[in-house]
Amino acid sequence: MTMAGRSEALGASVLVLNRHYVAVHVVGVRRAFGLLLSELAEVVHDENGSFANYDFEGWREISELRVLDKKPHDDWIKAVHFEIQVPRVLRLLFYDRMPRPTVRLSRHAVFARDGGQCQYCGRRFPTNQLSLDHVIPRSRGGMSTWENMVCACVKCNVKKGGRTPREARMKLVNRPVRPRHNPLLVLKLQNPKYASWRIWIGDAVQAEADRAAQADHASAASIEPPTSDYEEESLKTA
Ligand SMILES: [Zn+2]
Repeated sequence: MTMAGRSEALGASVLVLNRHYVAVHVVGVRRAFGLLLSELAEVVHDENGSFANYDFEGWREISELRVLDKKPHDDWIKAVHFEIQVPRVLRLLFYDRMPRPTVRLSRHAVFARDGGQCQYCGRRFPTNQLSLDHVIPRSRGGMSTWENMVCACVKCNVKKGGRTPREARMKLVNRPVRPRHNPLLVLKLQNPKYASWRIWIGDAVQAEADRAAQADHASAASIEPPTSDYEEESLKTA
């Protein structure tokens, strides 16, 4: 299938459940359709509270019916001869493993934890203007850990250079800590697009997303990272 969808649709994320309906990953749209087409996964669709499972063909047929009644938060992909809706939730048919118990450290997870806010000047930036800063520089033995990495704008990162915050006289906005829940997931849940994920996600993660949304609604939208960075992100569904 050749995808010529709007980049916004291709940039969407899809929640992936294991065979036992436990959330295990978030993947991009291309990977999601790859899983569907290779019959490794099926769509789990919530239609006003009742769930239906579809293989690729079934989903394509349902999409044909739904195309005339697109909803505001839906995403659609145009293939050569048809349009198909981007599913929000997939279930892996042969995958039994459970999600990792800890949140995986990644560049975008740090950006999401810090809400796209430079931890030195306190301003918010889109992802492409952010960098990762080792609070204690690596050259001084600083480790790549949640507690030693923060989101920094390029300007602050350059200004700080290979120095510690004290040496550079730059104060951190927040003390960096290991997040209890996957910050990428917390960020996604603030977007009404992913409302259908909530039933698969633990209450604690939802509560954190709701708190974050209330604290700062604007930041969530500004740090949508590109889809590829979401692939295979593990989730903590505690
Ligand atoms: Zn800054």
